[in-house]
Amino acid sequence: MTTIENGSGNKELAGKRALVTGGSRGIGAAVVRQLLNAGASVLTTARSATNSVPEGAEFVTADVRTRAGAEEIAEAAQQKLGGVDILVHNAGGARPQLGSASIPDDEWLDALNLNLLAAVRLDTLLTPAMRDRNSGAIVHISSAAVPTPVAPFLHYTAAKAALENYSRGLAVELASSGIRVNVVSPGRTATPGGAETRDQWARIFPSSGTGLAPEVPLGRDGDPDDIAAAVLFLLSGRASWLTGSSLVVDGGEFHR
Ligand code: NDP
Repeated sequence: MTTIENGSGNKELAGKRALVTGGSRGIGAAVVRQLLNAGASVLTTARSATNSVPEGAEFVTADVRTRAGAEEIAEAAQQKLGGVDILVHNAGGARPQLGSASIPDDEWLDALNLNLLAAVRLDTLLTPAMRDRNSGAIVHISSAAVPTPVAPFLHYTAAKAALENYSRGLAVELASSGIRVNVVSPGRTATPGGAETRDQWARIFPSSGTGLAPEVPLGRDGDPDDIAAAVLFLLSGRASWLTGSSLVVDGGEFHR
């Protein structure tokens, strides 16, 4: 992994305190590793304690789908890091359903809590201190599938679409406070969660094979580090004139 240094020879995020939700595996763990490599101190979260949290990161067990979970995370960030300069809301996902009419209320609420409201609650808890320092960088993880919703995932893509819309508005609101807000939208990426979702899809629709993305123009699924590299760019000073943007990282799949 390349370490990018700033002009004075320091790692480019040295001294920054970063909170990453869902960093025990997949894309979140790659973001945590790249942040550590860039010199940041990092707190990450998941519902279950695990050995796979990248070495060097602080960890707190919490469920981001509730306000109480968000408050526990914000409190842990204050205790373990002394505050947050960088927030990455990465935890997300949803179980595929048979079709729109088969999505129960609790799955809708779960998708909205995990993919949208968790970000809203964490932003609400953490941005006041960023405003006071007139500095902060936020990345929300969405999905490249948002512009092409399909029936088994309408709750998921609707929640991610709302996240993108909210992020653009938040970016404008917070710009004058020195806080940048951007979105990264991954395409199909080789993660435990991605594999589980594709297996569930194939069980519901056996004739569809993997069901998703017949072909990625760049010829392979994404690696979590491909997504993390885009996140790190948006968090860094190299993206100092980027806010309210959405960076699609998908090997060209959803651009055709
Ligand atoms: P994984 O399922 O592999 O990892 C998810 C992480 O989030 C784990 O650490 C998990 O730990 C944690 N997490 C899940 N639910 C909660 C919760 N309620 N509270 C706290 N932590 C939670 O996910 P991916 O790496 O595949 O995906 C990361 C993001 O990228 C998601 O937002 C997803 O929607 C998005 N994305 C992924 C794609 C892909 O192909 N992989 C494609 C498009 C978008 P635990 O289960 O212990 O809580």
